[in-house]
Amino acid sequence: MMNNELKNRDLEVLWHPCSQMKDYEQLPLTPVKKGSGVWLEDFEGNKFIDGISSWWVNIFGHANPYINEKIKEQLDTLEHVIIAGFTHEPIIRLSERLVKLAPNGLDKCFYADNGSSAVEVALKMSFHAHKNDGKNKPIFVSLTNSYHGETIGALSVGDVELYKETYEPLLIQSIQTPVPKDMSIEAAREAAEKFEELCKQRADEISAIILEPLIQGAGYMHMYHPEFLKLVSDICNRYDIHFIADEVMVGFGRSGKLFACEHADVTPDFLVLSKGITGGYLPLSVVITSNDIYAKFYCDYLEYKAFLHSHSYTGNALACAAANATLDIFENENIIEENEKKSAYMLEKLKEFENLDNVLEIRQTGMVSVVELKGYSSEERIGLKVHQYCLERGVLIRPLGHVVYFMPPYVISYEEIDKMMDTTLEAIKSL
Ligand code: PMP
Repeated sequence: MMNNELKNRDLEVLWHPCSQMKDYEQLPLTPVKKGSGVWLEDFEGNKFIDGISSWWVNIFGHANPYINEKIKEQLDTLEHVIIAGFTHEPIIRLSERLVKLAPNGLDKCFYADNGSSAVEVALKMSFHAHKNDGKNKPIFVSLTNSYHGETIGALSVGDVELYKETYEPLLIQSIQTPVPKDMSIEAAREAAEKFEELCKQRADEISAIILEPLIQGAGYMHMYHPEFLKLVSDICNRYDIHFIADEVMVGFGRSGKLFACEHADVTPDFLVLSKGITGGYLPLSVVITSNDIYAKFYCDYLEYKAFLHSHSYTGNALACAAANATLDIFENENIIEENEKKSAYMLEKLKEFENLDNVLEIRQTGMVSVVELKGYSSEERIGLKVHQYCLERGVLIRPLGHVVYFMPPYVISYEEIDKMMDTTLEAIKSL
């Protein structure tokens, strides 16, 4: 079977996400035959470094032998079971481990099966917890330039026009407060003041603030100082507003620590996790919250305070086995320390981009490294050109407009980092 045959069959029957399908007339699809480590291989033997961890999910490489083995073991025991009224060992073990690893004061795990659904869970749970306390707080606050997924609730609290504008009439109530404008501590303080001003006026209507700690992923990898998290957490406590930390992208080591909230030593009311949780193998997400929130829903059935949210595949046993295997790898290998070295190496290499005429800025947080280009209009689709140049030379990166970023699986070697970043440097020089 060859690439072309598969591409044609695909376009007869598939509608791809995050795509203008007409683009595929010029920008061919890449059918992937197999993966190994950071490498993806097509049907004609061409290989690509997965520089974006397959949409930010894959942290320990493709076909990781250890995760494979653990999923296979689970497969022969139990693939899935309803999680209302039943439970299984992998989900119990996973929850025990997550509660231990998460910031202090987070005690109960509520599962879903993707990032957006987990955001919906957190929003509903926050609103409902206030309601069970006799308060009506229908508004959510989020940051300008934020992204939290694309289901209606998650889209409502996001602020990326491209995804949101069309659906405006369908959205729930939300207000955006400014994200810190850069990575300085002054910017963090300034933005926190703005949030507090809003709280002074409308705290009695606001259920929660939801934010992506330290890095706004789909918001062009915008980064800010951890001080902002501290200040927000403090304001939330003073104004009876929940703090929802959406660590769907930054969780599981991507920020440089296991969870990004650790950088500021804060405990949110809801910690939302997905993506890296299964090593990028299977859909799973979780909202971890406090016993305090949990207690607000705990009563006799006829008081009708239960949280009745559910998904068919919630807590899937294979996904939980993959998640336990992922945590084993964190536990048994010095991933966070090794990542620190790789991140420092990538920062050195980023400096090679810094003085190019078409580079506005380089920035980095943990295992996310960014080169922001300047001087191009959006019609020029400059990111697409960089993507194509690199793909032809064996590197998969997928810039967000004019923002080129590297977010490889943590198993990437130093030679592979060289190939990924050197090829991209050539691409940017060739523009
Ligand atoms: N929150 C954040 C911060 C994300 O980056 C994403 C996905 N990119 C989501 C939520 C939504 O997750 P999913 O795509 O699994 O629905």
